[in-house]
Amino acid sequence: MKYCYECGTKLTSKECDGEGIIPYCEKCQTFRFPFFSAAVSMIVQNPSKDKILLIQQYGKKNNVLVAGYINKGENAEEAVVREVKEEIGLNVTVHDFNKSEYFKNTNTLMINFSCVVDNESLDGIDKKEVDKAEWFSFEEARKKIMPNSLAERFLLNFLDGK
Ligand SMILES: [Zn+2]
Repeated sequence: MKYCYECGTKLTSKECDGEGIIPYCEKCQTFRFPFFSAAVSMIVQNPSKDKILLIQQYGKKNNVLVAGYINKGENAEEAVVREVKEEIGLNVTVHDFNKSEYFKNTNTLMINFSCVVDNESLDGIDKKEVDKAEWFSFEEARKKIMPNSLAERFLLNFLDGK
């Protein structure tokens, strides 16, 4: 960010207590921290924690993890519960932080959680958002997840940590 998003003034740099050198607008007298989006991605496990849910979306045949943007005012854990309910129709009973990674293509910080749902039924899937959803054993999921993707890195970090 080179210019202030409020007034268009060219930004300078200024020491911000505890944060280091941060872009600063002299006119607004405000620090202008960089903008980015935040999203959650989920390793969804069945109640017996021996299967992982992978989905296909938007006409693509790649298997990925359930994911969605965090709403303004919402925390990441709430977004996990809401997104799984909206997309898959299941209730999350447990969630644990796994790993996060900045995704440059969409300027998004992706925060990955593992979570457990209360049911294996896939009858409640939102068919507008999800083309296909399928449970896989851990070893199958490892092979079926989209290669060289962020989803794969999250999944492998989770599986290799077990
Ligand atoms: Zn300004």
